[in-house]
Formats: sequence, structure tokens, C-alpha cells
Amino acid sequence: MTPASTTTDTPVPTTTPASTTTDTSRHPSKYEDVFVYTIEERDNQGRSLLHVAYPVTEQEAINERMEGIAEAFIDEFRTVAAEQEAAYQKYLRETGEEAASFATHYVQHFDVAVADADLISVAVEQYRFRGGTTGSTDVTGYLFDREAGVELSLEDLFVEDTYLERLSALSRTELEQALQEEMQEFDFETESAREEWLAGRRSMLEDGTKPDPENFDGILFLEDGTLRIMFDRYQVAPGSEGIVSVDLAANDIADLLVPQMQHLLGVSPEAAATAVPSPTSTPSTTPDGGVQSRVDCTEVACVALTFDDGPSVYTDRLLDVLWSHEVPATFFVLGRSARIQPKTVARMAREGHEIGNHSWSHPNMQDLSDTVIREEICKTNKLVVQISGASPTHFRPPYGAYDEGVIDAARMPIILWSLDTLDWKDRDADLIAERMDQALAGMIILAHDIHDTTVAAIPTVIESLSSRGIHFVTMTDLVGPPGLVPGQVYHHGPAPR
Ligand code: ZN
Repeated sequence: MTPASTTTDTPVPTTTPASTTTDTSRHPSKYEDVFVYTIEERDNQGRSLLHVAYPVTEQEAINERMEGIAEAFIDEFRTVAAEQEAAYQKYLRETGEEAASFATHYVQHFDVAVADADLISVAVEQYRFRGGTTGSTDVTGYLFDREAGVELSLEDLFVEDTYLERLSALSRTELEQALQEEMQEFDFETESAREEWLAGRRSMLEDGTKPDPENFDGILFLEDGTLRIMFDRYQVAPGSEGIVSVDLAANDIADLLVPQMQHLLGVSPEAAATAVPSPTSTPSTTPDGGVQSRVDCTEVACVALTFDDGPSVYTDRLLDVLWSHEVPATFFVLGRSARIQPKTVARMAREGHEIGNHSWSHPNMQDLSDTVIREEICKTNKLVVQISGASPTHFRPPYGAYDEGVIDAARMPIILWSLDTLDWKDRDADLIAERMDQALAGMIILAHDIHDTTVAAIPTVIESLSSRGIHFVTMTDLVGPPGLVPGQVYHHGPAPR
């Protein structure tokens, strides 16, 4: 927990001829006979980044459809990246300054829900960042009769025209319930503030669930026949909620399905007639708008990678590593360093990492008055909001030094750690990797993104812990529901029983 080294602005890059690097790979997925094909492109000194993954099956017709979707996405990426780069070069010539806001990031992931001999259900999620401050995330579901290789449309699945009204009504009930729960989490200053919030969210929810086929293009069938409806980012909730999904139990919709679908999913309308209506769903979202449901760290092994004292000149390299491995982390930033490198902090938030508060200037909080503690924390929170649009949700006291006075004054959840890499003392990537490799489920790993040796250790650590089945999560996901509580001190998260 050493104070941050002095950071300087990175020099203006010279304009070198663009060189594109493209990597492709193909590897097995967890589903039988489904492979993952990935394409990665990096161009314009890293300002243009593309990562596309799509499924490859034994059925040529399905592959062609999936390839077509990927190709259209890649073409669009190249066009946008070229436009952005031209704008960047113009800006550079005119001002002599680099500007991260010209970056183009396109990412496509997919998730296979049902993959058996009869049916394959694929959700394709596309993230587009074309400069500015936020990107968009769209998710679309595709369903195929696997044997025939025929794509099934929404009309193919349901018996009557009324299915859209039913899906709309069922989704609204679920989302309304989630909204009521979310409302309980907030302290509204006045009753009218509460009503205004609720009215805003409700109108968004109702617009996004109108019985229109476009609103229900993100449909996925899970293995137990559950129908998952995924709504695009911003469709039914603010962008910070990412992709919102609603699960409808098979029995609640069995009577709507055509006999072929009932058979494929193994549900029967008889079961539906006798079933007690049980809305089992909970909307799930991920910070990066990922399709996969949030990891439950009481069920699977998780660790939280946390980095203190940054951002520094090494942080962007670390972000590149985390990005390419799709690993989220939590950064406890110093306000004074965030002020020097706001673009790096904005990037952390954009790429799905969590930002925590590590004070403004790294003092020992126990030596300070309540007023000064408040200043150190509030000034940093305010700056992070300005840069990233979201306030840090937790605090790590410098040197891990705290007492009751610090806890009271901070008014935030206090995050400590359970595995100290001592990376400030030993500047040795192999040794740091070895120490991190000792991590067990539930641990919070303390490291610092102000040392190049720490950043150098991370790729090895990610590969080695992943191969042991350990998931990397943010602090919020590690702790899980009901969430981090202000005034509480966390040394570790839960571990599966
Ligand atoms: Zn520190």
C-alpha cells in the first residue's frame, strides 16, 4: 500500500502507418458438437478493437447464418473504425493532443442455452462503442431446428397471435416486481422524489415491453424449457443495469407453444393446466451487459482481483490484459491519480470494472479528523462520478488502517483483503504470480496497478486460476445479494459449501 508514484501524461503518439493484426481461433465449447470460433482485430495502435465469437455446429445451414451475423458486425466495425480514425487523425493534426474518445470497440459474445439433438438456442450479444462516453449493447436470440437446419421465428413457436400480449403482460409483472424491490434499496428524500423515480422507470418499462415483435427479439430457451426474454440495454431500464432478462417458467407458456415446440422442449400443456402459477424468475443483469447470468459465488468458486493506488502509466496495459481475458476487476483509485488520468478511469468503467475509493491522497485515515476524512473520500467520489458517471460504491482505507471513527466517517462499505501479494515489496512477476496462485474461493486479492511487475504477472494468474475453475468477479458480485453494506468491513466473500 505504498503511495502512488508520480504519474505523467502519456506522450502524444506519432502517426505511424496503421497495421492491422487479426487472430482467429477455434476451440470446443461446453456443448457437444458446438465449437467457438473467435476473431480478434486490433488496429490504429489499439484504438480499434474487435472481438467476435460465434458458434460453429455440425449443421452447415446454422453455421452460415451465424457467420453472416458475424460478418455484418465485422464490416460495420471496419467502417466505423475507419471513420473514427480519420476523425482522430484530424483532431491530432489540429490540436496536437491525443483523445481516447475516438476509440472503436466492438465485441460480440454468444451464449448457447439449449443444445441437444433437436434444438439449438443461441443468444448473440453485440456491444458497440463508437467514441463518446457510452456504448450500446443489443442482444438477439436465434432458435434452430437442429436436424433440419431451419431457423424458427417467433411466429413459428407460438400458436396464436395473442402470444405477444401474453409475453408483454408476463414480463411487465416480473419487471414491476423487480422495480418495487429496487425501490426499497434507495432512500428518497421526499415522497415526490420517490414517485418521480418510479414514474420514470415505469414508463421506460412499459415502452420497452409493448407487444411488438422487436421488443421480444431476445428470446432464449433454457434446458428446462424456461423461456428467457432478454431486453437490450436501455430497453426497459437505465443503461447502468445492462441487459435485463426475465425468465418465464415453461408451464406458464406451454399452452402458447406449437406442438412441435412443446415436443422439442419437453413441456406439455397438461402440465400447464394443473400447475400452480409460479413466477420463478428474477431479472438478472451483469455490469458489462453480459448475457450469462451473474455468477453465484455461493455456488461456484470466485475471487475478486483488486488493484490499489492507480491509475498509473501501467493501468492501460493491465486493462488490455483484463479485456482480452474478459476478466472483471475492482480498482481502488486515488483521486489525485484519477485527476491526472481520467481517460483510464473512464475506460475502467466502460469495460465493466468496478471502481472503489482509496482516498484522494493516500493518508493514514486514523490520523485525520472526521472532516478531513470526509473531504478525502467525497472529493474522490465526486471526481469519479464526473469521469465515469457512477459513484464508487466502496472504500478501501490506505494501508488498511481504520478504526470506528474511520468507519463512521466513511459511510461506505469498507473493503480489506484476504490475500496480500506484497507486490510493492517484491518487484518480481513470477513471485507475484506464485502468490496469487495460492488464492482460494472467496478471497479478495490485494495488488497494485502502479508496478509493471504486477501487471506482468496477471496473464499467468488468470490462466492458472481459471484452469482450476475459479471465476473472477467484482467486489459487488463476490459479496452477492443483498449487496455491500455501508459501515460493514469485508475481508473476504462467500465460498461454495
Ligand atoms: Zn494504497
